[in-house]
Amino acid sequence: MSLLSSLSLNGKNERDNRVKQQVSSSSPQLLTVLGATGTIGVNTLDVVARHPDRYQVFALSGGQQIDKLAQQCIQFQPRYAVTLEAASAAQLQQGLRQQGCTTEVLYGAEALQQIAAHPDVDAVMAAIVGAAGLPPALAAAQAGKKVLLANKEALVMAGRFFMEAVTESGARLLPIDSEHNAIFQSLPADCVSLAQAGVEKIILTASGGPFRQFSAEALSSVTPAQACAHPNWVMGRKISVDSASLMNKGLEVIEARWLFDAIPEQIEVVVHPQSVIHSMVRYRDGSVLAQLGTPDMRTPIAHALAWPERITAGVAALDFLSLPPLTFEQPDLVRFPALSLAFAALEQGADAPAVLNAANEIAVAAFLAEKIRFTAIPQLVENALTHFAHANSGCLDDLFALDQAVRSYTLQHVERITC
Ligand code: NDP
Ligand code: MG
Repeated sequence: MSLLSSLSLNGKNERDNRVKQQVSSSSPQLLTVLGATGTIGVNTLDVVARHPDRYQVFALSGGQQIDKLAQQCIQFQPRYAVTLEAASAAQLQQGLRQQGCTTEVLYGAEALQQIAAHPDVDAVMAAIVGAAGLPPALAAAQAGKKVLLANKEALVMAGRFFMEAVTESGARLLPIDSEHNAIFQSLPADCVSLAQAGVEKIILTASGGPFRQFSAEALSSVTPAQACAHPNWVMGRKISVDSASLMNKGLEVIEARWLFDAIPEQIEVVVHPQSVIHSMVRYRDGSVLAQLGTPDMRTPIAHALAWPERITAGVAALDFLSLPPLTFEQPDLVRFPALSLAFAALEQGADAPAVLNAANEIAVAAFLAEKIRFTAIPQLVENALTHFAHANSGCLDDLFALDQAVRSYTLQHVERITC
């Protein structure tokens, strides 16, 4: 199962035909944005606002940032907004009524799944951070929607189940992660499999993050503020820490495995500090195709929203004459062991990627809360991978139970470190 096999079904089932008709018809596509208040959500709404004839916001979801969600509701007038809890929903509903906004406010995990799978929805931007984003993203996939997937943790945790849902429902899965979007753009339009397309390697580029040139010793005393100051991209706090530890690249290796049905040997990581080449595909005849651009997430968002057409995204054109030299390095797996842990989890298969993801989420939250050092993140992940080495969930319920067990186990280790 892969994104390629889901794309190879183009035009072969009713839902694909429906999506095609929507793309070419004049009525706007109805869009749900999960995680609207985050950086991907805000960038999505920026692109959407440039094309009111093409996209209409059906539903928005947020977490803690209720004022921001209220402003978005007033601007985009969605049918539904979803918050985490009843109290914030009531507060938002009251505020919106006072402004004459008719958006109905719902709350909770089930409501997120409802706005993702609602029969009127055409496309869903899955941009909630972490495993919390899996159930609504999966609901969108099961309902056969056009799924714009930013939430890489959903695939790392449940790649097999997610891709099966995409294939069974005929959903259209489009990658938002800039590297995977670049690879998607660098593959042939009619690609059924990497082997059939003559692909030898998928080459994921990595910026190297803010600590690329830090010594191992210096890494042990970096702060959350330093980790969140990414040199090239403005991102949420969790993915910023993942980028700094290179765990983000590890998660992306696993994401690529599922999206492109790749084996670990077909995936290579190259550090490219300028983030101009967003990733590459090397073919067996020696050709390398790459996607380049100004580092701005509105490009992959606009690409996926409009695919197979192209729309403007408000992104500054790449000016080759003012670019710094483009350089490339090998990732340093000694200073950044998280990337090796992800490759090891991928090789191990079964539930190892889900264990890696859950432990990493807890470790990153502890680092952001200043409970542990930055260098303790990969140690905690390694502990969990060893402890849960034989986990192999037969169904999604088992996987969610494992996710909780890994979180509790890792939290206990965090407490031990901090005592
Ligand atoms: P942010 O932290 O900026 O945004 C996360 C969004 O999810 C916010 O809307 C937040 O609400 C909401 N949210 C957080 N926790 C929960 C929860 N438990 N239940 C429901 N909603 C929740 O993250 P990003 O936008 O940076 O990233 C989103 C996803 O996209 C991640 O999976 C990331 O890996 C991926 N991605 C991001 C890229 C980027 O450039 N930012 C690039 C490629 C992938 P609130 O803010 O209101 O609390
Ligand atoms: Mg990325």
